[in-house]
Amino acid sequence: MAKCKVCFRHCEIEEGNLGFCCGRISENGSVEAYNYGRITALALDPIEKKPLARFFPGSRILSVGSFGCNLRCPFCQNHDISWSEEAKRYAQTAQKATPEEIAELAVSARQKGNIGIAFTYNEPLIGFEFVRDTAKLAKEKGLKNVIVTNGTAELCVLEEMRPYIDAMNIDLKGFTDRYYRDVLGGDRGQVMSFIEEAAKSCHVELTTLIVPGENDGEEEMRELSAWVSRLKCPGGEGIPLHISRFFPRFHMTDREATDIGKVYRLAEIARENLEYVYTGNC
Ligand code: SF4
Repeated sequence: MAKCKVCFRHCEIEEGNLGFCCGRISENGSVEAYNYGRITALALDPIEKKPLARFFPGSRILSVGSFGCNLRCPFCQNHDISWSEEAKRYAQTAQKATPEEIAELAVSARQKGNIGIAFTYNEPLIGFEFVRDTAKLAKEKGLKNVIVTNGTAELCVLEEMRPYIDAMNIDLKGFTDRYYRDVLGGDRGQVMSFIEEAAKSCHVELTTLIVPGENDGEEEMRELSAWVSRLKCPGGEGIPLHISRFFPRFHMTDREATDIGKVYRLAEIARENLEYVYTGNC
């Protein structure tokens, strides 16, 4: 039995078994990244798709994903690689790549406008060792590194990667403990601590998906944006917030897509506190 220290779940894992996220395994008395170098998705994406609006706009970034996630969002758009039974199947079939191979691929994509590597699609922090090792090589080659994350990790994980990461998009999925705990299977306090620390050393943008009946209250957006307004990126710039529209999918099909007017109204409220607010999926 070994204990994982990566996120608030602190899974105690029997030898040879996977943790809750399916990305980490107990081996020889310690917990390691089972998804290390196992690639399920690879694409040269516009940076705006991450989404990052104020980090090298107009550029493209080599986006890399593995499998597994430590949350259980019922509307996940990447559920096939994050937390369904199919994700467990990927554990067997994913292509393997070394950090050197991914960094080389990123260098060769420079001619197509690539600025670096984005670790995204599934939750990258559950396999932080691969992120750290790859990002280190990429940085040595003059590339930028981006993480797209749910921010559900202990600060010791952030410290491992901090020297190599240039930007992050972090989900701040709502502003109540109830929503994080009961709907997403997460821990809001851990995410908020992660955001506060990350913003001290790299460019940070945040994303909030507005789910009808869950996190779409005006007062909640007032509180969320007021909290974000107290943080600054390292250059002193305010943190951008992306407010995006929910569509019914996966295990959450009991409600309509978010009303577009509601998304715009919440964006207006956020703008009372924040300089950079963007709407998505509208
Ligand atoms: S990262 Fe995975 S194995 Fe580790 S504590 Fe979190 S859910 Fe459990």
